[in-house]
Amino acid sequence: MRTIIEPFKIKMVESLRMTTREERERIIAEAGHNLFLVKSQDVLIDLLTDSGTGSMSDRQWASMILGDEAYAGSRSFFRFADKVREITGFKHVIPTHQGRAAEHILFGVVTKKGDVVPNNTHFDTTRANIENTGAVALDLVCPEGKNPQLVAPFKGNMDVEKLDQFLTNRGTTNVPLGMITITNNASGGQPVSMDNIRRTAQVYRKHGIPFFIDACRFAENAYFIKTREPGYADKSLLQIAQEAFSYADGCTMSAKKDALVNIGGFLAMNNDDWAHQSQAHLILTEGFVTYGGLAGRDLDAMAQGLTEVLEEDYMHYRIRSTQYLGEHLNAVGVPTYQPAGGHAIYVDAKAFLPHIPAHQYPGQALTVAMYIEGGIRAVEIGSVMFGKEDPATGTFIPAPNELVRLAIPRRVYTQSHIDYVIEVMEMVAANRDKVRGLRFKYRAPVLPHFTSTFEPV
Ligand SMILES: *Cc1c(COP(=O)(O)O)cnc(C)c1O
Repeated sequence: MRTIIEPFKIKMVESLRMTTREERERIIAEAGHNLFLVKSQDVLIDLLTDSGTGSMSDRQWASMILGDEAYAGSRSFFRFADKVREITGFKHVIPTHQGRAAEHILFGVVTKKGDVVPNNTHFDTTRANIENTGAVALDLVCPEGKNPQLVAPFKGNMDVEKLDQFLTNRGTTNVPLGMITITNNASGGQPVSMDNIRRTAQVYRKHGIPFFIDACRFAENAYFIKTREPGYADKSLLQIAQEAFSYADGCTMSAKKDALVNIGGFLAMNNDDWAHQSQAHLILTEGFVTYGGLAGRDLDAMAQGLTEVLEEDYMHYRIRSTQYLGEHLNAVGVPTYQPAGGHAIYVDAKAFLPHIPAHQYPGQALTVAMYIEGGIRAVEIGSVMFGKEDPATGTFIPAPNELVRLAIPRRVYTQSHIDYVIEVMEMVAANRDKVRGLRFKYRAPVLPHFTSTFEPV
């Protein structure tokens, strides 16, 4: 088999600044051993997130010049809305500045105290926006999705039987809508099968509950369906995406993911009443209904990005290059969540650094070691983010997993950048005994991962 090359060539470059190990040791100490507090100019390979960090194409930049900055009825809006309708089939298309704004508006309209919103796994902003209205965000991911080492094709699936049982036992009066997230970001970036989307839709329909898709990575999910689910090999990614959306009544979207732009999002739906209420909220919080907190040129860039993300060569390269990183990390002895997701590789820091107990934050310690060794920035998803203290006894309750996520920005890094990451991880693995645990120096009261500082134990 031949090398799967980047299906693009480089027209504009952004320089990377090299640093020495001594500089990085000083920088990370000054940043309180927290990569969120390091300046991007001091990072060589930035794998903090795939959100809004991608490269736009020449066609997207060209489309921005054509942007129509009219306040109302802009041409850019119609190009954008037509593209979203072509893919999703939804009647109402409401632009927002990013995904969580779409969530904020949707849940502001449909949920209230005492309600429950089921999902395979809620992403953290989705959960926060639901809880902000007093409702409960319920996760019902399939059992395979809870086993990090199990290799299965669709570990992001909904547990459809459990969903049906839950709705049957509880009754549906306080379930104003149900969701599914494709791909399942909060569960290892794992895909959801078409069969599972269809059966989830049937359960929601049987109980009379509107069904919304959190569609941030709908195109990556379509590729997994095409390559893993019988009957889809000969369908285009567009056809697969269209079928997935055909089972739903609406969607929320962060365009910073699969619309290949640096900022943007949308809410789309068929229900006229909810759409009109959402548009009223939009005007209060985001802007008029034909721009929603974005410039006209941003809407054009999204329309073009939504076209390019469904090109097969792009997606083949995208998914394959993520898998490539996972396979090579495993080959050099770095344990990762199995199988590779679409947008990120998750290193199992608990297994990788067994000498560091959970209360000394092995995930955070690994992000520090990766930065010192090679200037790589990744994010801890473990006890720094989700660890708690027992309110009665004050004892530490660790997160279920200690993971470090290496998210891959879209169309940004070449294979040699990724090979460099693998070499750095191999060096970290060779010296793993010397990696030291951390303790909090300052613990931020909310969302501690962003602004807390640490010191070595
Ligand atoms: C990123 C993301 C969101 C929120 O989108 P933002 O653009 O970051 O506000 C919601 N759901 C999922 C699954 C996401 O990955």
